Amino acid sequence: MKNEIKEKIDGLVERLNEYSRQYYVYDNPTVSDYEYDMLQQELLKLEQENPEYIRADSPTQRVGGEAENTFAKITHKIQMGSLQDVFSLEQVKTFVDKIHEDYPKAKFCVEPKIDGLSVSLEYADGFLKIGSTRGDGFVGEDVTENIKTIKSIPIKLDFANPIEVRGEVYMPRKAFEKLVENQIEQEQIPFKNPRNAAAGSLRQKDPKIAAKRNLDIFCFNIQKIEGKELDSHKQSLDFIKNLGIKTVPNYSLLENYKQIAEYIENLGKNRFSLEYDIDGVVIKVDDISIRESLGSTAKYPKWAVAYKFPPEEKKTRLKDIELNVGRTGAITPVAIFDSVFLAGTSVSRASIHNQDFIAQKNINIGDEIVVRKAGDIIPEVVGVSQKGENDSYYKLPDVCPVCGTKLIKGEESAVRCPNVDCTAQIFRSIVHFASKSAMDINGLGSAVVQTLLDNKLIKSVADLYILKADDLLKLDNFKEKSANNLISAIEKSKTAGLDRLLSGLGIKNVGNASAKLLCEKYGSIQNIMNASPEEIAEIEGFGDITAQSIHDSLATSHMQELISRLCEYGVKTDYETTVTSSDYAGKTFVLTGTLPTLKRSEAKAIIESHGGKVSSSVSKKTDFVVAGEEAGSKLDKANELGIAVISEKQLLEMMK
Ligand code: NAD
Repeated sequence: MKNEIKEKIDGLVERLNEYSRQYYVYDNPTVSDYEYDMLQQELLKLEQENPEYIRADSPTQRVGGEAENTFAKITHKIQMGSLQDVFSLEQVKTFVDKIHEDYPKAKFCVEPKIDGLSVSLEYADGFLKIGSTRGDGFVGEDVTENIKTIKSIPIKLDFANPIEVRGEVYMPRKAFEKLVENQIEQEQIPFKNPRNAAAGSLRQKDPKIAAKRNLDIFCFNIQKIEGKELDSHKQSLDFIKNLGIKTVPNYSLLENYKQIAEYIENLGKNRFSLEYDIDGVVIKVDDISIRESLGSTAKYPKWAVAYKFPPEEKKTRLKDIELNVGRTGAITPVAIFDSVFLAGTSVSRASIHNQDFIAQKNINIGDEIVVRKAGDIIPEVVGVSQKGENDSYYKLPDVCPVCGTKLIKGEESAVRCPNVDCTAQIFRSIVHFASKSAMDINGLGSAVVQTLLDNKLIKSVADLYILKADDLLKLDNFKEKSANNLISAIEKSKTAGLDRLLSGLGIKNVGNASAKLLCEKYGSIQNIMNASPEEIAEIEGFGDITAQSIHDSLATSHMQELISRLCEYGVKTDYETTVTSSDYAGKTFVLTGTLPTLKRSEAKAIIESHGGKVSSSVSKKTDFVVAGEEAGSKLDKANELGIAVISEKQLLEMMK
């Protein structure tokens, strides 16, 4: 039993530490904050009951993440702690009652908890000297230059004595939306939420980039001040506000639990109409002398708690369950409900995954259900709040909702339509085949594919290659120019390359990267089809199961027939035909910054078509770094290592 508990604690520590690494180091959360917080609570409880198993590296013992080496390190003069989280109003009441037991007259300064990144601003002689991140609470990163780009932070203060204030740098929602739009356009991986965008932006090596990110700040504490006596927290906020420092909005001095609960409720109702993200409310004892006598633990002060909002949940009526048939025939049930406004947007559908999930939650059409946005992003069905007419749960049909074929068991609890001629599968596979990452057929989006299928002009991807402009001209949607354009885009795709063809065929486990590896090893589709699963498994990163499934997919009569028709119509299935050998074969390139005309994917395609490789990080093995505007740390590293740095123009000349 003891060992089991230790194992459980170890497992949770390791899992949470990995989540934290992704969150703090890469600004790329892999689970929602809510999920993280719940796991941390579970760990905390186990640790409280079994203190002998508490590990020094447990997230309950540490603040935030470590300072990164990219920036100079700053040792904080005053520790930048975290806050004790509470998740219910009852816990808030317990906190308030406990303080009032010893200090019956204590008042509380209550503030929104801004969801951003904690920083310290140090002023001396009336000027901003250092801006740093929290890091592990003791040592943070020197981000002064980036901090100075935030327009609402005064560089000069009308106060000559040393003063250090703490605040939360955040990205306003509008700026976040614009940034994500831009990132998608530039084919970069977009930030997942404004908090991570703020953290990622403030920790840019190049302040010019940070300057463009429209960051803002709310300050919420004086860490240290000389030459001024302040007796209460509210007084100190009023003081910095008067100095022109942007202070946390709506800070209120409240006397009792009832007022605090009202404040939390009101702010909770309005949180999604604010221009910035908040994730809770901070309740702080106002009187500085009481604070001093209460003191702190190693991680947080005993005079404050952070109430964290639960993910917003709404009740609604389940109107229907739609069954989506995926490209490989997997059936996904989707709940369709009366539209509700959740976390700032209107939602009316959410995946309900599979039969097991539906049975476990006892979900049926007509029920009143509870929905929420996981991590305030993806809508999900939490459960049923009131059953409708039907007591039992919805049963998925035995047959495909589109073609009527008997469904078979898929992976885990999924079911699958095995009919490769199912029109839903055909539709999705053609859309996938034509997509940018596969054959990149310009003008062949889902609406056009649907029209072609509806008008029986095509039945499979192979039929695309026997389409004629005249066939298209019979349809209302096409004029001569658009018909010719589509036909030439289809024609052009014949030389897209074997790797694109392979990923376009929708073979299970074959994405762009694995398609390339297969091409490099086998050179032609015929060779790949002739390879045994054991041989395929020898490719680095391919396990036995993947290799077997690739082999089996290619061996089906459907795939064999499709490939033979594609060859017959002139689609190039030889890898060599699409890769020109050149002086750059085998050379490694790294792309950094925004190139003046080429998208990253285009530059990558050009390099690869000359046999070069594109890597994401600069090392001694890098041959060329192609640098565009706002190139960051990769450019610095290239200069440091003496690697050739070229412009887009030079790249294009080299690869003429
Ligand atoms: P926290 O978010 O619980 O609270 C402390 C922070 O609140 C302080 O550092 C401060 O900067 C900030 N704050 C904002 N407004 C404030 C105000 N008015 N007064 C005082 N402080 C204010 O703790 P944390 O240590 O910053 O972060 C831990 C949290 O981060 C976790 O609870 C979790 O939600 C999230 N997290 C998520 C993942 C993930 O993978 N999703 C991983 C690690 C951490």
